[in-house]
Amino acid sequence: MDKIDIKSLSKEELGLRLEGLGAEAYRSRQIFKWIYVKLAKSFDDMTDIPVGMRDTLKKNFYLTRMTALDSKCSKLDGTTKYLFSLEDGNTIEAVFLPEGKRGTICLSSQVGCKYGCSFCASAPFGFVRNLTTSEILDEVIHVKAAHPKDRITNLVFMGIGEPMDNYSNVLEAIRIFNDPGAFNIGARRITISTCGIIPGIERLQKEGLQVELSVSLHSAKNDVRSSLVPINKKYPVKDLIAACKDYTRNTGRVITFEYVMIKGENSSKADSQALVDLLGCMKCKVNVISYNPVRSYGRTIASNGASIQPSSGDIRCFIDVLKKSGVNVTKRKSKGEEIDAGCGQLRISKF
Ligand code: SF4
Repeated sequence: MDKIDIKSLSKEELGLRLEGLGAEAYRSRQIFKWIYVKLAKSFDDMTDIPVGMRDTLKKNFYLTRMTALDSKCSKLDGTTKYLFSLEDGNTIEAVFLPEGKRGTICLSSQVGCKYGCSFCASAPFGFVRNLTTSEILDEVIHVKAAHPKDRITNLVFMGIGEPMDNYSNVLEAIRIFNDPGAFNIGARRITISTCGIIPGIERLQKEGLQVELSVSLHSAKNDVRSSLVPINKKYPVKDLIAACKDYTRNTGRVITFEYVMIKGENSSKADSQALVDLLGCMKCKVNVISYNPVRSYGRTIASNGASIQPSSGDIRCFIDVLKKSGVNVTKRKSKGEEIDAGCGQLRISKF
């Protein structure tokens, strides 16, 4: 019989498997604590589990730990980017962002991504495969073990991949992140970010989960958004906003719209006014993020030779229009830019 990756199982599934092996189901709680709280690297570490049962575990399950091929730490703000190697030789990145008592991990959900957003470093490699639940959990286990003095308080699925396309594995991982007997991270501190996959938004609102939803909008103008986020041709702005309004109505949760500001493409006064008109009186937040240069792919310079990274003045003017119209808007502080760990800078190749 093939061994099972123990991190692919929920606590209930593990309990049932243990019962089938003649062990007590409650041991699953003990094993969860060893894996996700005490960060055990092997079944032999689980010293309060009887030796005979540890042998049974070894015969029937395996426990993996992802390897970090490399890491880079920002001298400016302590942001640390990890390049992880997966069992099949693929690689992904995750980022740890410490900030006072808060510690956020930006997680990848897929190897590569098929959506080809024009400003994103993950896009040129295309889609390779979904991450398993176990691999998603491993990202957090590794970062938690590497930063024992820091608390992991927030998780954001804003790394490589579209989480709505790996829905089941992402949700399984979230349940374990949220479990008080495992990572114990409140659902409201976990954010799923989507480029606007409407069926995913519709599915998520039926889960009864308190997770945060963030939607990469980047333009209120349909043609501009299609050039930045090509999936807009399938799920246009009008339909996306209608789905978001349904989500808010049905869940009572406030959506955050991400807006990566790219000079000359979506940064004018007319662009901010279009955003005001689109969102109207919708209860939501807008997060404006300055475009992060994706050095390797040559989009730091626009075709007319001008920089496409907006100045702080450009951003202030854009935000002012929104604020004056009563839109709840913030400028997201970009962290880890100099180590290519900012928004849109993660990719699947080596550093
Ligand atoms: S921004 Fe997100 S959805 Fe778009 S290509 Fe990058 S990883 Fe994929």
